[in-house]
Amino acid sequence: MNIEIRNAYEKNLKHIHVEIPRNQLTVITGLSGSGKTTLLKDTLYMEAQRQYLETMSYQGIQKPKVGEIRNLSPAVIIDQEDRNENPRSTLGTQTDMYTDLRMIFEKLHHRECPNCKAEISASDSIEETEKINEKFTVYMYCPKCQYRMDKLTRSNFSFNTKEGACPTCNGLGKSLVIKNNLYQKDKTIVDGGVAIWAKTYAEYQLKAYYALLRYLEIEIPQDVPLGDFTDEQFEILKQGIHSNMISNQQKKTLPTKVLEGKYEGVEPKIWRKIADKKSVPSSLKDYVEEGICPDCHGEKLNKLSRSATVLNQRLPEIEKWDLHRLLDWIKQIDQNTDDQKRALIQDYLLDLSTKIERISKVGLDYLSLNRPYTTLSGGEAQRLKLAAILDSQMTELIIILDEPTIGLHPSDTEGLISMIKKLKERGNTIITIEHDEEFIKHADSLVLH
Ligand SMILES: [Zn+2]
Ligand SMILES: [Zn+2]
Repeated sequence: MNIEIRNAYEKNLKHIHVEIPRNQLTVITGLSGSGKTTLLKDTLYMEAQRQYLETMSYQGIQKPKVGEIRNLSPAVIIDQEDRNENPRSTLGTQTDMYTDLRMIFEKLHHRECPNCKAEISASDSIEETEKINEKFTVYMYCPKCQYRMDKLTRSNFSFNTKEGACPTCNGLGKSLVIKNNLYQKDKTIVDGGVAIWAKTYAEYQLKAYYALLRYLEIEIPQDVPLGDFTDEQFEILKQGIHSNMISNQQKKTLPTKVLEGKYEGVEPKIWRKIADKKSVPSSLKDYVEEGICPDCHGEKLNKLSRSATVLNQRLPEIEKWDLHRLLDWIKQIDQNTDDQKRALIQDYLLDLSTKIERISKVGLDYLSLNRPYTTLSGGEAQRLKLAAILDSQMTELIIILDEPTIGLHPSDTEGLISMIKKLKERGNTIITIEHDEEFIKHADSLVLH
């Protein structure tokens, strides 16, 4: 049986008739701009959607410009477009495997009691839920000292929530950092040691800095290059009155006037300027750059969330593993939990292992969950989508692909072709736009258009 497209005249199509055999692999090839995409996506796929939705009583969907198409069935499309460009999207979030991990962490995590410092386990602690103003908060008690604390829940384990995200980078793992060239280590402070200090501004800053040192009874560096400053002198130059070192001093009050030592510090001042402008002022462009977040070191979660463990592993570590290693860890959890605890998490373990096995089948088990989705090649992204279809056991689908070999290493083309053959053997119809000669050899039929 053939899919019969009669009188297609969408966009640049010139009232054409095409027949495509069902349950085969058909390649459509030809010059670009000849309307291959219009034929497959805007005509065949749209009409398949329309006919399918009408069987479920969705009326009024616009019919593409085509006389008729016979012998259609539900269609799916896998193409280069609709790539997820969200920088927060990772393999883990896109496949929902990250959600499974967060649930496992909510149920089984171990953490330190803030009061007695003992390691406590969420599943062994007594919980309590309180409702204040329609908002529920879950607490748990330390089994050792009875201290009550907020329980870490699934949202604490997500870098996309305010409860879980690192406050410095808002869960992106990257933030602006100061470049080394801001400090000229071979120069003295009056001679351009701080690259952004110049003229009267430099004099003013110096007076404030020296006043603060005097106030703290720290020696003032004279005629020494920045590289020879003591740690204390350099830290206070950089962080000013906000320095952690100062809170360690025994001074009860701090100066309230700039020239008495209320010195802001080189770096807090830079961050304040950037925050005020909501962008990097051109005067600072040479001295700051995007780098790994200095707070979470790229782990995206806040300190408490990233320190909790399950089977001695922290969530950000697990995210870095390839899927093969992740599968081993899942098996270990299964073996190391008693029936009562396993009942809390077995659905998530099953979902994880099913998805990992599916992705392994298409040769992508070298990926890790923290891999940004935007950095996958077009071929990797298409194979992930194909893997989901391959696993669905669906049959009689029309599967439309748009140049799936683009960005694919030649040695991976073979894997792609064998996946497509499996889909065909299961009774699906595969139609693909393709120019790759190796791929075309495997086609059952070829439409030149
Ligand atoms: Zn305790
Ligand atoms: Zn961070």
